[in-house]
Amino acid sequence: MKPNTACESCLMPFAKDPGKRESDRYCSYCFKDGTLCYEGNDLKEFQRISYSKMRAHGVCVLKARFFTFLIRFAPRWRK
Ligand SMILES: [Zn+2]
Repeated sequence: MKPNTACESCLMPFAKDPGKRESDRYCSYCFKDGTLCYEGNDLKEFQRISYSKMRAHGVCVLKARFFTFLIRFAPRWRK
């Protein structure tokens, strides 16, 4: 298996991760202090949280909507 290049939870490419990653599988936003920041199984709720976080970080509305849409294809949310 090749190493992951993007977060399994939100699909953010690790190359774009501005933080310090603790996990090989998740980005620094999704996984912090040894645990997943969102531990639930509700994709819609996770998308809402991600969207507001992106907006808070200055991502424009169109990009934030696009990335939020892509989250459903992340390994964590695949059924
Ligand atoms: Zn992530």
